[in-house]
Amino acid sequence: MEEKKVVAGNEAAAIGAYESGISVATGYPGAPCSQVLEYIERYEDIYCEWSTNEKTAMETAIGASFNGKRSFVVMKTLGLNVAADALLQYSGTKINGGIVVLVADDVGRIVGDDYQDSRNYGIAAQIPVLEPADSEETRRFIKFGYEISEKYSIPVILRMNAITSKSKSVIKVDPDLTVTQSEHIRYNYCAQKMVTNVIRFGFSNYKEKDLVKYWHNFKQYWNKLKQDCNDFSVNTLTLASKKIGIIASGVSYYYAKEVMPNASYLKVGMAYPLPEKLIRQLANYVDELYIIEGFQPVLEKEIKALGIPVKGSEIFPRFPYALYFTSDIIAEKILGLLPDSAFPFKNVIPFRIPTNCPGCPHLFLFYLLHKNQIKSSGAIGCAGLGALPHIGQIDIVQCMGSSIGIAHGYNKAAKNNEKFVAITGDGEFWHTGVNNLINVVYNKGNVTTIIMDNFTVAMTGGQGNPSSGYGLGHEVNRLSIEKICEAIGVADIQIVDPYNLEEFEKCVTSTFKHDKPAVIIARRPCLVFSCRSEKKTCQITDRCKGCLKCAKIGCLAIELTEGNGQTFALINPHRCIGCGLCQQVCQIGAIEYA
Ligand code: SF4
Ligand code: SF4
Repeated sequence: MEEKKVVAGNEAAAIGAYESGISVATGYPGAPCSQVLEYIERYEDIYCEWSTNEKTAMETAIGASFNGKRSFVVMKTLGLNVAADALLQYSGTKINGGIVVLVADDVGRIVGDDYQDSRNYGIAAQIPVLEPADSEETRRFIKFGYEISEKYSIPVILRMNAITSKSKSVIKVDPDLTVTQSEHIRYNYCAQKMVTNVIRFGFSNYKEKDLVKYWHNFKQYWNKLKQDCNDFSVNTLTLASKKIGIIASGVSYYYAKEVMPNASYLKVGMAYPLPEKLIRQLANYVDELYIIEGFQPVLEKEIKALGIPVKGSEIFPRFPYALYFTSDIIAEKILGLLPDSAFPFKNVIPFRIPTNCPGCPHLFLFYLLHKNQIKSSGAIGCAGLGALPHIGQIDIVQCMGSSIGIAHGYNKAAKNNEKFVAITGDGEFWHTGVNNLINVVYNKGNVTTIIMDNFTVAMTGGQGNPSSGYGLGHEVNRLSIEKICEAIGVADIQIVDPYNLEEFEKCVTSTFKHDKPAVIIARRPCLVFSCRSEKKTCQITDRCKGCLKCAKIGCLAIELTEGNGQTFALINPHRCIGCGLCQQVCQIGAIEYA
């Protein structure tokens, strides 16, 4: 019997995937959707893995789909850039088992650092995009996604965001439900892309008629989908007031409904392709038509391209504040109402810059870079926090795995007369950094790469990577960073404990004496995801002269206090973990263990 449960969208996604009978789930950690795979791991029959990167995850899922099984891939928006090559090729190929790709956009930049809207991928590659507004829709839309994936022979994107992923709402579940893993029609041959090329060039040596039978008439399927989506239950048209009509997608629908409960609505559950017939019906019914969609005006452009007048970005400017809709913004811009002053907590959350944990090994690196005035390209994640202004020791941060390539390009442009170093985490090294290291060795570069090996993908919640020794739900092999660097041909490989600042500094600066690629593996577990049994702290003694050098290392445990007209540093014992960095930085020995 069905019962109700309050769950976050991430858990609802796992339930929806399980109820759809998936066999394989893959992904790469990324906020806000990392937990989806961790929930799926609970289902024993589903093979589940953290892949080394999003492209690998996508290709593994494609393999499972080719085998006739349903597969599920999870990643954040930027991950879709990495997976795009595989995904875009799969669209247009006749597929066997259904495949749904859950992508979490960061609408409003709540958890991350990008402005990307994954619906654009749907448009670019002709892939349907479903957009749930809450947990129950997430569960249902995933099941629906598999139905259309198999019916129209197409991969499906399920677009979530920080709100739908993290916020909790009621879903319906059957606790006694046992699911049989789905097996769709299985084909043994799926070389449509290659066949297309042969036919396109018209090589007469090939028997075209034989090849044509493998041709997948994608256009026919797509046109049918475009027609049928007007009748899909995920798109709902409610005709009420004739004055105002709203087209809304995702969670924005709820905000609009809260402000204008009596307006007419088209709630677009499938953001692409759009239900043109329903849009025209609403446009003809109301005096004024608005589009309310989180993030970029993607649907708005599509609707305007149909020649339908709709108000959107002209009243909801996208930068800097209207990326993420709220009831206040909608009430103000459409109804001219002042923002609700009854909500007292609106402005009380203080601005806080993301920073490393007290005692994080990365702080030792940032200090070392500062002391030696070393320029660097940085990592994504905790090791990239050194680029933020309060530390400011990393000069450029781009995308996952890029730091080694950027350093290589910089040094080549400087004719190898400079040593611009690359910083990467262990997860990022395996993700795509290793490809860049191969390129450095192959092309006789001279990059010094510092791999901050803390045995985990820390910032996204402590997920495993190939050298962590753990994965998801099954045993994994532990790969060796030093052995792979050696195999690539890096001649200078040094392993050091970053807490030993003097040794760490010697390792890094020694690589500046030669003109070859070098790798420093600074190895110490992340403090959050390792067990720390000993509890020791540092304290500042009365020998302190108030130079404040220790206060500049970026440790959250070091606070400032006033006394005798002077500012002094003070160590908060509740935060300090006794890493000893401040002690090594203090040149007059004023800091000691408590
Ligand atoms: S989570 Fe781990 S890696 Fe990240 S800042 Fe904290 S200690 Fe450092
Ligand atoms: S020992 Fe110093 S640097 Fe390390 S956590 Fe404590 S106050 Fe911070």
